[in-house]
Amino acid sequence: MKGLILAADVGATNMRAGLFNREGRLLRFKSGRTPQADTSKSVPRALLELAKEVAGQDWSKISSCGVASIGPLDSQRGVILKAPNIAEKGREIPLLSYLKEELRVDYYFLNDCNAAAYGEWWSRKAEGVRNLIYITISSGIGGGVVDNSHLILGKKGNGAEIGHIVIDSTGYMDCGCGGLGHWEAYCSGANIPRLAGRLLRDGRIRRGTSLEERYAEGRLDAKSCFELYYAGDPAAIEFFELLKDYYAAGFAGVVNAFDTEVLVVGGATFFGNEAFFNNEVFPRIDKYLLLDKPRIAKPAHEELAPLYGAALCALDEIEGARVQ
Ligand SMILES: [Zn+2]
Repeated sequence: MKGLILAADVGATNMRAGLFNREGRLLRFKSGRTPQADTSKSVPRALLELAKEVAGQDWSKISSCGVASIGPLDSQRGVILKAPNIAEKGREIPLLSYLKEELRVDYYFLNDCNAAAYGEWWSRKAEGVRNLIYITISSGIGGGVVDNSHLILGKKGNGAEIGHIVIDSTGYMDCGCGGLGHWEAYCSGANIPRLAGRLLRDGRIRRGTSLEERYAEGRLDAKSCFELYYAGDPAAIEFFELLKDYYAAGFAGVVNAFDTEVLVVGGATFFGNEAFFNNEVFPRIDKYLLLDKPRIAKPAHEELAPLYGAALCALDEIEGARVQ
């Protein structure tokens, strides 16, 4: 008999677990910190403990499990391959190892942004939506694509790594992944201050304002870049003129590639600056677009989007995400 669904979302700093019924409703929820040392053992063990806490006496009623995590990963083997923020150098994290020993059910394992895209599409499919793109703008940039009700996963579950599309072939900024000119290297929360610093050093934006002062003091982060821009700092205004086009180019590149109906945008950098994105970035997408502009929406499940998506992929038995 088909029973409850255990779902989890493992991020670089936090992990979440939830118990869902077969209507896709979240019954119970727990969150905890992701261990930072000896991660190839400690993270799988912490996942098992969190799962047991959330399941409680319903442990034996669980009939399948969906797990979302930061990538890159290998869905079929159930391992995180080399996520720079969590895995120790060169070591994989066999994320499901402890869980599989104690809970013998079917497992579905996928990249957190792919999971989020599936969850966001699921909550809109009753409206007739068949094509949806999810993009998160936070410390990194991630995404997922549902095409004609089908989640794009790629060969190992790393499909739609849209943060790493090239928006600048000069390679002015290098990305944390080692590639050059990637969207994330210009526009993610972690990289906005790096870009500002590079532009200041190269004299591409004016020096001698608060932007340079904060940068020189090592106190420039994404939040302060936005604050200086809102306060009218002349260098920040010059910087943001460039930044808006980098954002718009990335969004348009993704839309042009997939011909989507709905573009869902979330993530901490977006939520902290919604009016900026709505009024100054999204209108700018038009000049880069070939195709009709999609409807732009906020995530239905906000920061729980990957958790919902993991549960719903297990519920729908998405073959490409099944762990062997
Ligand atoms: Zn990259």
